Amino acid sequence: MKRLRQTRPWWTSALLIIVLATLILVFRLVEDIGPDRGLGDRFVVSRILDGDTMELQGGDRLRLLALDTPEKGEAFYNEATELVARLSMNRTARIEYAHKRRDKYGRLLGYLYIDTLFINKMLIDSGLGYVYLFSDNDLKSDQVRLMIEAQRSAIKRKVGLWSLTHAPEERYINKIGSFRLHRPNCRSLGKLVEGKYQTFKTREEGLATGLSPCRNCKP
Ligand SMILES: [Zn+2]
Repeated sequence: MKRLRQTRPWWTSALLIIVLATLILVFRLVEDIGPDRGLGDRFVVSRILDGDTMELQGGDRLRLLALDTPEKGEAFYNEATELVARLSMNRTARIEYAHKRRDKYGRLLGYLYIDTLFINKMLIDSGLGYVYLFSDNDLKSDQVRLMIEAQRSAIKRKVGLWSLTHAPEERYINKIGSFRLHRPNCRSLGKLVEGKYQTFKTREEGLATGLSPCRNCKP
């Protein structure tokens, strides 16, 4: 009996190890890009939750990438929600993803297109949202570039959020590597280290570079 067990060729163990390693690698990739990514995925928008979040037929939620629209109770909340509803409700949409297909809440993260309209950018164009980046966004992508250009243009035209007045500061601060702009006394800034931050004379000057206002100090 002992001899029988030893007749299994040595390479079956090696093969098993290779198969397991490949499976682990595939699972890790799937975790990164999502379970059901496909080129040109199409969805129908079935419910608008606010200017940057919606539901798709089938129950998935979609959070529009690189965008932050006003919260309920804030100025231009209704306008942002209505614009995205008018453009996308019950329409067939195409979603393009960046690195991660889903966030920690299980929502899809993506750029939304209806026909040739790039919805994330249209909200910025209309001054109804801010470009909202994280370091893991693909900063060199066409979408991010177009959205920053749109923000620059909306600032110049003083539309939507850019028509509001804000108590001015002497300067505004951004910590290098972060994408938020702060008032100088903001608690979330922490200790400032020489060479690790930049300052702007006006909030518009800072936000034109693609930064977004800090949610705590709301510059
Ligand atoms: Zn702040």
